[in-house]
Amino acid sequence: MNCPRCGSTSLYRSRSRNRWESWRKRHTNKMLCRCHVCLWRGWISDDFEPRGKKLQNFIAYLFMVSVSIGVTVLLLPLLE
Ligand SMILES: [Zn+2]
Repeated sequence: MNCPRCGSTSLYRSRSRNRWESWRKRHTNKMLCRCHVCLWRGWISDDFEPRGKKLQNFIAYLFMVSVSIGVTVLLLPLLE
């Protein structure tokens, strides 16, 4: 992995500073990194992510979609 700003390979995982960052870390394939050369800090996509987590995200997405469809179907007769 290279730093997107200076191209150095001195990238290290950075700790999340707030809830949003830790949430994003947990639920996406991105990780928070810090460059020790130019002090850049940001998100890098993790290509080494095990498949399990991606599948888990996909199932969670399907669940959300089916719940929202279910709610719409249930509420439609009430709106008419
Ligand atoms: Zn850098």
